[in-house]
Amino acid sequence: MRRRLPLILIGLSIACVPVEPDSDLFDPVPGYDGDHLAGRAAGEPPSPLPDAVQTVYIEPAPSFLNDRRWRQEVEAAFRAWEQVLDGARHYVVVGDRSVADVVVGFRDGEIQEAGACPTQVIDRELLAVTFAQDVPPCLRGRIYFRVDIGAARWTMHGAVEAGAVDVQTVAMHEAGHLLGLGHNDTVPRHIMNTAYGGVVRALTPGEGQDALDRLHAPKQRP
Ligand SMILES: [Zn+2]
Repeated sequence: MRRRLPLILIGLSIACVPVEPDSDLFDPVPGYDGDHLAGRAAGEPPSPLPDAVQTVYIEPAPSFLNDRRWRQEVEAAFRAWEQVLDGARHYVVVGDRSVADVVVGFRDGEIQEAGACPTQVIDRELLAVTFAQDVPPCLRGRIYFRVDIGAARWTMHGAVEAGAVDVQTVAMHEAGHLLGLGHNDTVPRHIMNTAYGGVVRALTPGEGQDALDRLHAPKQRP
């Protein structure tokens, strides 16, 4: 299974396979194609995490963001997906990282977590990155926002001024990767557009259907 996915194997000491490929992300630079950073062939979608109920641990906010608001915005992103998935996914926010299927937090530079997961350098062009993996003892999903996003800056109130990047919008995009979605640049303003295109606070039925199609897709590719 998944033999067609080019896997990222960087300095692994245990059997921890980053199935996802990892992603990309909304990039503030127009025309940038994040797929080459995913370690997979262009257009190859990630594998969705398997469980219908997933626990989510939200790490403390960095000093430049209000912690309470940060948590609210990340949770809202997952709730937005619940609303268009017709019960196919339910997310439970937990306070114990050790029981979390999904961890959401900020990182800068290298991502390295002892004993569990691969080291991955976050490209300086990216806003955030998503890992999905389902091989124990690894946590299965990680969403890392980048602390330093250059000239842009993180905001949490749907701000639309130049250079503002909305936390909730990016969280919704990343959560889409955990559902198995790749990028979709054929539908304007689709949450899975490669490039960040402004604040999005609700998902469309079409976006929900895209995710349901991935969740119900056969596990084995021909
Ligand atoms: Zn992406």
